[in-house]
Amino acid sequence: MTELLKSLPSVDRALNAPELAGLVEEYGAGACKRAVRGELAALREALRAGNPEVGDLLRSSRFPGALFDSVRGRLAAEFSALLKPVFNLSGTVVHTNLGRSALPKEAIAAMSAAAAHACNLEYDLDRGRRGERDSHLEALLCELTGAEAATIVNNNAAAVLLVLNTLAEGREVVISRGELVEIGGSFRMPDIMRSANCILRETGTTNRTHLRDYANAIGEGTALLMKVHTSNYEVRGFTRSVAGGEISKLAAERGLPFVNDLGSGTLVDLTRYGLPHEPTVAATLAEGAGLVTFSGDKLLGGPQAGIVVGRRELVERLRRNPLKRALRVDKVTIAALAEVLKLYRDPRRLAQRLPMLADLSRSAAEIRALGERLLEPVSRALGSGVQVTLADCKSQIGSGALPLEQLDSTALCIVPLAPKGGKDAALQRLAGQLRRLPRPVIGRIHDGRLLLDLRCLRDEQAFLDQLRAG
Ligand SMILES: *Cc1c(COP(=O)(O)O)cnc(C)c1O
Repeated sequence: MTELLKSLPSVDRALNAPELAGLVEEYGAGACKRAVRGELAALREALRAGNPEVGDLLRSSRFPGALFDSVRGRLAAEFSALLKPVFNLSGTVVHTNLGRSALPKEAIAAMSAAAAHACNLEYDLDRGRRGERDSHLEALLCELTGAEAATIVNNNAAAVLLVLNTLAEGREVVISRGELVEIGGSFRMPDIMRSANCILRETGTTNRTHLRDYANAIGEGTALLMKVHTSNYEVRGFTRSVAGGEISKLAAERGLPFVNDLGSGTLVDLTRYGLPHEPTVAATLAEGAGLVTFSGDKLLGGPQAGIVVGRRELVERLRRNPLKRALRVDKVTIAALAEVLKLYRDPRRLAQRLPMLADLSRSAAEIRALGERLLEPVSRALGSGVQVTLADCKSQIGSGALPLEQLDSTALCIVPLAPKGGKDAALQRLAGQLRRLPRPVIGRIHDGRLLLDLRCLRDEQAFLDQLRAG
């Protein structure tokens, strides 16, 4: 072993080898040195651990070529894009961990233009002086929702934080006990209240809250009444919650603002696309909410953003809060959101133009036909170690939107045959192989099968090509 350890080249000698010429130019001397050092250390460690394959390798004619290959591989991996496009075949359309919505081409073009150039982000081109960042989107949002005013922040969690801190700092917010939502990623209503420096005044019970519960909870310290959309769960059975319209009326009588956090928020009636009903932002404002908060990248299908619409006087107060400065969005987001909102002006064509809605409204028959086209070539590409069939499955909308609603879909269903080390291990290995493809494929394991839900598969040819190559 000592002999073999001694036979390893020094870092400098390896770096100067003609096989690695050009690498320093491409990646820089520091990164190349680190890569060589890392690969040599791995070899030394494997030798000391008595790994026989490494011993054989060092004695063979494949060395030092193999070392140079692994250095090149390490550098390529280190410098490859960190955010990779993936095939989302998970069955969850708006998947937070997979970046939620794909954006329409109009938005992508506008993002690229905004990123590449200086722009009139906060500059009034008519008057030649400082302008307002929100102005680009405000008119569009007011047109689409009937609001008097609108403002945009980084995400809906930020929107809720800003609203609470602005309207209720140091004072009480009345909210139903049945709506103390946890969204995930540690967004919990009681925690947000604390972060905004507000006092949570919960009312009613877990399953039933009445209008009189809100009325009884109002006192000296009350700053606002709030309703939160229970986006990711449903309380069933002996239940009662109070409609926004009723709470609005009570709030108006007591001279308090009423805020409705819709979470997903949609601008159109989703039933026209064959989807379940979800209250629209316009309808929520029309029933009297002073402010409505919602996400840019859930059912809206746009970029990550938090949108607040409602009464002008309340929105002005949000803008004056120093937190607004800390939570503001950049020009690229504004560019994308503006294009997405423009698509909503023509709801007839929306399902063709907005990728999120196209995926959600894709018919079960179309997905089935896609599955039938793919079955044979995918089966061939994956080889004889697995069995591939088509299976009916259910897609979810995701991101807490309409949690109980499921959409009929078709999946490629993959089962390892004669699995080594057990079926679970084989499934995990298979899922891992698909995740390591150049454009990773993300499926889900269910009931001893790996399911690839085809609802969100658009680039059929690229999907097949890389399976064949891999
Ligand atoms: C999703 C959600 C949020 C948080 O929105 P993000 O855009 O993810 O920050 C807040 N409130 C409700 C009710 C939600 O569903």
